[in-house]
Amino acid sequence: MRYWCEKAILSGTDGPVTADRVEIESDGGRIVRISSGVAASPDAQVLPGVAFPAAANAHSHAFHRVLRGRTHAGRGDFWLWREHMYRSASELTPESYEQLATAVFAEMVVAGFSSVAEFHYVHHQPGGRPYPEPHAMELALARAAVTADIRLTLLDTLYVAGGIGMPLSAEQARFGDVDVHAWLKRLESLRAEVASTFPPEMVSVGAALHSVRGVPEEDLAVVARELPDDLPLHIHLSEQPAENDACVEAYGLTPAGLLARHGLLGPKLSAVHCTHLTEADINLLGESGTTVVMCPTTEADLADGIGPARVLADAGATIALGTDQHAVIDPWIEMRALEHGERLSSGQRGRFSPAELLQAATQGAARSMATPVAPGALHVGAVCDVVAIVPDSARTAGSRPEQLPLSATASDVARVIIGGRLVVTNGHHHTLGEPGPLLAAAIRNFT
Ligand SMILES: [Zn+2]
Repeated sequence: MRYWCEKAILSGTDGPVTADRVEIESDGGRIVRISSGVAASPDAQVLPGVAFPAAANAHSHAFHRVLRGRTHAGRGDFWLWREHMYRSASELTPESYEQLATAVFAEMVVAGFSSVAEFHYVHHQPGGRPYPEPHAMELALARAAVTADIRLTLLDTLYVAGGIGMPLSAEQARFGDVDVHAWLKRLESLRAEVASTFPPEMVSVGAALHSVRGVPEEDLAVVARELPDDLPLHIHLSEQPAENDACVEAYGLTPAGLLARHGLLGPKLSAVHCTHLTEADINLLGESGTTVVMCPTTEADLADGIGPARVLADAGATIALGTDQHAVIDPWIEMRALEHGERLSSGQRGRFSPAELLQAATQGAARSMATPVAPGALHVGAVCDVVAIVPDSARTAGSRPEQLPLSATASDVARVIIGGRLVVTNGHHHTLGEPGPLLAAAIRNFT
């Protein structure tokens, strides 16, 4: 396939550069040739506007999409929001989950994401009994991703405690496993089943620990010893001060300190949120080269706070972005929210350059994923996951191409190409149509 565009963000020797009149050729899902300053070949598809690498979504809970626009009556905090979330979780079935996740993943693709790390913990039937097909929920998510053409890193989550020293509550029972060994076995069997059913560049399994609230210290030690080395590992970390307080009280260490004690920090780990950190935590995460997944629109929606992203990046952490509970599914808004949080908390502009924001939305997530991710700028050898942005909409008119991360929205995504195939034209998914009606139909299943 050949695509031609007026402008494209390409890799240059000193970072991304905006090139004119660019033709991109793909073969086998990868970019095999890029020519700039050329006319379109007769067989090339012409893309409108500016070609960017597609975004990667490093943190998602697909079913949280049900809650959008339904949790804003009255006051409250994260913990009250969690009650709403548990109600939606209790209503999921493999069938309704597949329908919902298909719609949510379609919304992601139309917004310009080509990959997602799904932090999945609704494993079993309400009450905790396994389904007759033990991977029913996981396979529902995998099929949904394939239907929606998004690359899925399916993070199977260990969640065995309802808080430090507490058993799972009744509504958490379906998230659990008998113990860490049962989870490791289930994970191994899931990997085998996924590998035999789906192409690895579209669906691959990773691992997650819910949090230091959901996984006791003795299990962290088992995971450090027994989790296969080739799996990315994710964990929610220090999203709320109450989690830090409980951890310090129980273990005498912050959550980051506890993970460090077991050797779990490092490039293989994606620590999600990292909102409330000590200086020592920042040094641990930075020096270990841990990937920190910021979810700025979710953190704003849930009144979590603003994490120290710039300081973490300066300390050596890799910053990635995720949409988490999907109050917003829009990589452009997420990039901007990261920088806006920094500006609001520091009183300075330009804390992250547009190129760094793009990096966080693309390459930063690569270490969070078991599937390929588009790089921060298009180059030969990378997966051909490309998004074309209209530069003359009401939102984008007048913007310099390289500064579109600070002005574009998902509404400006004119084309999405994944693995060299055109899958979105002007908000229309090539097989599923508009995501809006799909979402409305899927969300009708929930109270
Ligand atoms: Zn999360």
